[in-house]
Amino acid sequence: MKVKWPSAEYDKQIDIICEKLEKAQNIFCIAHPFADGDALGSQLALYHYCKSVGKNCYCLNFDPLPEQISWLAGTEECVDKLPEDVHFDLGFLMETTEAKRLGDRVEFFKKADDLIHLDHHIDVKGLGSTNILDEKASSTCEILYNIFERTGNPLSKECREALYVGVMTDTGNFRYNNATPRAHEVTAKLISNDLIVDEIYKIVYENTSYTRVVIHGITMARTEKLCDGKIVYSWLTQEDFDKHNADEVDADGAIRNLSCIKGNELSILFREAKEGKIKISFRSTGKLDVLDLSRSFNGGGHKLAAGSTMVGSLEDIKKQVLEASIKELEKQLNLK
Ligand code: 5GP
Repeated sequence: MKVKWPSAEYDKQIDIICEKLEKAQNIFCIAHPFADGDALGSQLALYHYCKSVGKNCYCLNFDPLPEQISWLAGTEECVDKLPEDVHFDLGFLMETTEAKRLGDRVEFFKKADDLIHLDHHIDVKGLGSTNILDEKASSTCEILYNIFERTGNPLSKECREALYVGVMTDTGNFRYNNATPRAHEVTAKLISNDLIVDEIYKIVYENTSYTRVVIHGITMARTEKLCDGKIVYSWLTQEDFDKHNADEVDADGAIRNLSCIKGNELSILFREAKEGKIKISFRSTGKLDVLDLSRSFNGGGHKLAAGSTMVGSLEDIKKQVLEASIKELEKQLNLK
C-alpha cells in the first residue's frame, strides 16, 4: 500500500510491522542486487536492531560491495544463503522496486512465514503481506527509522550509522530535494551525540580506489553529446572492467560527472554487466522526468534518477535508448 508520512494509514502499517517484529524470532532481509548505501544500510540497520533486542537476523547479499559502504559494521555477517535448519518467521524486502530485479532470488520470499516490503521508489507494488511504500521518503532507511522509533527501543550506534549512510547516500549527501524536513529530522536523531559525520563523509565520498578513478576517467573521456549538449552520454564495456581489474560497482557515481556539465538536461550511462546484460542509468538535472524513459526499457526508479537493465549488444541498445531519449527530450521540453 502506498502511504505518506505522517498519516493514519502510515501509523497503522507501522503498528502492524512493530507487532510482527515483536513476535518474530528469526528474520532475514534481502535487497536489490548490487547493494547501494540505502539497500545495505537498511539491511544492516535491521540486523543491529534485531541483535539489540535478542532476535536473529540474516542479511542476504550476493554481490561485491563497494568500498564506500563495505566498512559498515555487520557487513562481515552478510550471507548468500539461509541456514536450512532455521524456521524464519519474517522476511524483509528492502529498497526493491519489483520482484524481477531479484531474478531467481525471489525464491527467498518463500523462506519466511510472512514478508514485509519497504521502499520509497515510485509506483512500487507491494510484494509483502504488509508494505510501506512511501514515495516521499528520502530512503528506505528513513522508513525503517520510523518503524524503529515507534518501538521505543534505543538504537545502537551501529544501527544509527547504517541508517545514516542510507539517508546520506540516497539524498546525495543531503543535496537532493528528497532531503525533506523529515529526512533532516531523522538524520538529527541518527547523529545524536556520537556519529562523526565528517569521518563518515570521508569514507563514503573521499575514499576512492585507484580502479574507480580510472573507470570514472574512462567514462568522462568518452562523453558524447546530442541535442546541443542537452543529452550527454557515455559507456563502459566489460573490456574496460577486465583491463583495469575493476568491478561493475566501480562505475557507481560516474554519471554524476556527466550530470554537472553546463546545459545538460539528461545524462545516460551504459555499462556492460555480466551475462550479456546492459545496465543503463538515467539522470535528469531537473526539468525532465526520466522515470517514464526508464520504464519504456523495463526499468524504474525516480523522476530524476532511474535505471534499466536490458539484454543485448551495447551498440544496439545504445542506439535504441538514445533515439528514444531524443524523442522524450523533445516531447517533454516542447522542443519541436
Ligand atoms: P542507478 O542508475 O544509480 O543504478 O539507479 C538509479 C535509480 O533507478 C535507483 O533508484 C534504482 O533503484 C533504479 N534502478 C536502477 N536500475 C534499475 C532496473 O534495472 N530496474 C528498476 N526497476 N529500477 C532500477
